[in-house]
Amino acid sequence: MSPPEEISDEEAMAAVDEVIALKPISTVLIVIAMQTEALPLVNKFQLEEDTDACLFPQKVPWVRYHGTYKDLHIDLVWPGKDPVLGVDNVGTISASLVTYASIQAFKPDLVINAGTAGGFKAKGACVGDVYVASDVAFHDRRIPIPVFDIYGIGARRTCPTPNLLKELNLKVGKLSTGDSLDMSLQDETSILANDATIKDMEGAAVAYVAELLSVPAIFIKAMTDIVDGEKPTAEEFLENLVMVTAALDQAVTQVIDFITGKCLSSL
Ligand code: SAH
Repeated sequence: MSPPEEISDEEAMAAVDEVIALKPISTVLIVIAMQTEALPLVNKFQLEEDTDACLFPQKVPWVRYHGTYKDLHIDLVWPGKDPVLGVDNVGTISASLVTYASIQAFKPDLVINAGTAGGFKAKGACVGDVYVASDVAFHDRRIPIPVFDIYGIGARRTCPTPNLLKELNLKVGKLSTGDSLDMSLQDETSILANDATIKDMEGAAVAYVAELLSVPAIFIKAMTDIVDGEKPTAEEFLENLVMVTAALDQAVTQVIDFITGKCLSSL
């Protein structure tokens, strides 16, 4: 018998990636920013709230729901509410922390960040549309020093899902993330430079953490408001939140149904 041929680290990594891509997806982590967005999905997938406090540090407000839906194990996490103010912990910091802790604890095969977002009508977005993000980037991390500028923008491709897009009637666009619901002129310039169709407050942060921990991630965003429209964002957001959450709920269910029984390479 001849001795095994030496393979490089890169070749070994590529072989591992290939094996992972061909393994059926069995565990999915859904990261959601707001309770209003999370609860319809918790009901749809008949998930149960976790009472086992050991999985997250004591006293954090993060909430985990879990269960099995059509052979797929689903963990759905929501960063809970600010303990003093009582509002949802939206934005990049809570999203990053809860994504990190959940990936470590639940070891998902795939992360799905689902939520509402603003859309740009100049790019064809309408209220109620549901998008899958092809790319993510930040629009409020300006560091005007060579190379740090690119680091700040943090642009990444998301996990490609050509078959899912072919099968489901979802739009595709680039997502830009920042920690503000409104849009300053500087943010607007960055969003245009990011070529974004969608604007949210969590996506690029979830993408950063998922990449850090080598878990593929996809982003499903339903449009509550038109950023370049006439109505003030906060008003339009609140007006459409419940209706758009129903559209989000439907799209996430379709995506979960599609994923069931498949491996990453066939998404
Ligand atoms: N006024 C709301 C606050 C929601 S913050 C309330 O009272 O509940 C906005 C949330 O919706 C974030 O999770 C963000 O990701 C998403 N979102 C919707 N429209 C957005 C927009 N135009 N810009 C940024 N985020 C938006």
